Amino acid sequence: MVKRILAVVAAITVLFTMMPQEGVVAEAAKKPVSTSKAASGSAIATSGSAIANSGSSIDARPGKKKHKKKKKKAVRKQPKKTVYLTFDDGPGSKVTPKLLKVLKKNNVKATFFIVGSQAKGQKKLLKQIAKDGHTLAIHTYTHDYKKIYSSKKAYLADFHKTEKLIKDYTGVQPKYFRFPGGGNNHYMSTRLRNSILKELHKEGYKEMDWNCGTSDAAAKYYSASQLIKYGETSHWGSDPIVLLQHDANSKYHTPDVTAALIRYYKKKGYKFSGLNNYTGPEMCFKRK
Ligand SMILES: [Zn+2]
Repeated sequence: MVKRILAVVAAITVLFTMMPQEGVVAEAAKKPVSTSKAASGSAIATSGSAIANSGSSIDARPGKKKHKKKKKKAVRKQPKKTVYLTFDDGPGSKVTPKLLKVLKKNNVKATFFIVGSQAKGQKKLLKQIAKDGHTLAIHTYTHDYKKIYSSKKAYLADFHKTEKLIKDYTGVQPKYFRFPGGGNNHYMSTRLRNSILKELHKEGYKEMDWNCGTSDAAAKYYSASQLIKYGETSHWGSDPIVLLQHDANSKYHTPDVTAALIRYYKKKGYKFSGLNNYTGPEMCFKRK
């Protein structure tokens, strides 16, 4: 009998140890997001078990000695903290080349969520992004909310136009995409979102929202130092950090802000990577 009770307790303990990762993500995501336009109250949900290296708080749980030993081992194996710099709405013919220089100088790889209409005619620039080792991802062709979110068909037609352009220009098959306005925008119903996701998952795509941003898309003008401050402090949820910025031509602060943020996060022990090397689950804003 005692043995049986012990077995049940052990089973519950194991279950408990496995569960918190999702809990950690959900709980952390409840934090208010004050700096990002599309993050208006959004929470991050991950479609897999949890973000790859998000389990640190498990160690705070009281547990038996046996478990503590195992946890220590798991902590040692965790990858270095990573920042995924992401740039939407480009390429901007004036901003992106400067940004590429900053990234190259610092030996940092990033991800570009391309707007097809901006990339059209910019074959050289797009090829340069790929050649420098950055990740090319899709952010639709027109970025016209009313048009793309009018139906699944409209969204996918727009989406595939950018896919084709990237492939034609660079030979790269993108793997990641980001909804204009993020996955929790007011233009797209949950039903529409799910039907688009279903199709894009079939095609092998992963959605990637963000959990940190400089607020460079806010209606209000922010100085470079304000943008840097937001980029340093707005992270919510678990690591890794997926940091949103924009490289359209109107976002002329982006290269300098990026240089400052690279310095800041390097000092804090982070490494940088493009999403091509990301192995965790999708990062999607939770729908209300
Ligand atoms: Zn956008």
